[in-house]
Amino acid sequence: MLLRTLTLAALAIFAQGAHAADCEATVDGTDMMTYSVQTLEASRTCQQFTLHLTHSGNMPKSVMGHNWVLAKASDAEAIDADGGSAGFDQGYLKPKDPRVIAHTRLIGGGETDSVTFSLAELKSDEAYEFFCSFPGHRTLMKGVFKIVG
Ligand code: ZN
Repeated sequence: MLLRTLTLAALAIFAQGAHAADCEATVDGTDMMTYSVQTLEASRTCQQFTLHLTHSGNMPKSVMGHNWVLAKASDAEAIDADGGSAGFDQGYLKPKDPRVIAHTRLIGGGETDSVTFSLAELKSDEAYEFFCSFPGHRTLMKGVFKIVG
């Protein structure tokens, strides 16, 4: 009986650990205008999700800046276009754009930023895209964000 209790406890700890891992992720941006990850999966059980953005390159953010922007896939192109119009000083995002679900700051080589956001409003049957809104980068720098479980 004791052994069974211990086994269940171990399983519970394992399950908790697995969920914790699904509630955050790290994406790296490079001087080659790429992200290290093209697909992110967030567990439905997460209250919040934390995205850590790193930039392993050396180039300054005015030249090879990267951010991480999350939106419905159907909104991404328009957000990207409006971000280009907003300009560098706004981090290439229209201020308080309601279509943006979450975003990091624009960073340059060697910098990092993180954003934590609620998954409460996100649906598993909706298509979400993450991308970099620096002008021209979305061509290569985008991926799929999925709610799973
Ligand atoms: Zn970029």
